[in-house]
Amino acid sequence: MIRRDDIRNVAIIAHVDHGKTTLVDSMLRQSGQFRASQLVGDCILDSNDQERERGITILAKNIAINYGDVKINIIDTPGHADFGGEVERTLQMADGALVLVDAFEGPMPQTKFVLRKAFANKIRPIVVINKIDRPDARPQEVLNEIFDTFVDLDADEQQLDFSYIYASGRGGFASHDPTTTSGDIRPLLDLIVQKVPGPEVDPDSPFRMLCTTLDFSEYVGRIAIGRIASGRVKRSQKAVLIKAENATTTGSIDSVLVFEKLGRVEVETAEAGDIVALVGLGSVDIGDTIASTERPEALPRIEVGEPTLSML
Ligand code: GDP
Repeated sequence: MIRRDDIRNVAIIAHVDHGKTTLVDSMLRQSGQFRASQLVGDCILDSNDQERERGITILAKNIAINYGDVKINIIDTPGHADFGGEVERTLQMADGALVLVDAFEGPMPQTKFVLRKAFANKIRPIVVINKIDRPDARPQEVLNEIFDTFVDLDADEQQLDFSYIYASGRGGFASHDPTTTSGDIRPLLDLIVQKVPGPEVDPDSPFRMLCTTLDFSEYVGRIAIGRIASGRVKRSQKAVLIKAENATTTGSIDSVLVFEKLGRVEVETAEAGDIVALVGLGSVDIGDTIASTERPEALPRIEVGEPTLSML
């Protein structure tokens, strides 16, 4: 097993309206600017302007931010309890999580379901106390409330010893000092790079991936999205699709895409730890394993959590 240092897969957990879209938007815009000043002068400003014009109204399920030599994959989680195992599946792609909390409102009961699952998955979250610019912000109290919530949710000692940072997604800054009123988002990006472990992977064993999410396009049909568990996948390679009850079919992977900002780009190959979208397997379903013909063995299907309204 090796630990990849060029990737961070981080889930984002937030109550609706606590500022997730605005914060991710700031991270996305500014990561381009940092690269611009380091590498290419003004020309990247053009693409920033385009992004600004396009606007970000909905947070896509997967967004990738390039920061220095690291690609940060941001994985959205449902902001509520679900009954289809979606929370478990999305968390399985992540090695860390940002828990975003409004500096006035504090932690909300609806996110407890997702947080409990994150703790059970051994994820050590980073707490972001957001909207620190609010005149009624009460960051210290909110921090204490988050700690109490984590205790209630059976966080272990390491999870209770969480890193935290203050931020204003709207102001475009993050800081370790709650009285800060300006700056940039780099302290948050740095914290992600420092505290979220890179994926620990075996790149040399045969390719296997669990299909975590499905997308659909009129032109290419079903698109399987997931995190590569082992090995490498290459465009045009043969693959085995292992469905429930171990029924298998063989097909070909027509294209491999990785996430890039708000979109996706085609690549020749991708490897263990990468989050990819695979085109070509028309009958793929959520929970299926896609494997190389060398080792067509299913990965454990994610058990769907029992209905848990009582946990809310
Ligand atoms: P989401 O539902 O978590 O994605 O939240 P949004 O990013 O859509 O923001 C919800 C509301 O909070 C909007 O009205 C935003 O303008 C506002 N908002 C977002 N970030 C901040 C912030 O840093 N400070 C303040 N004061 N308001 C914010």
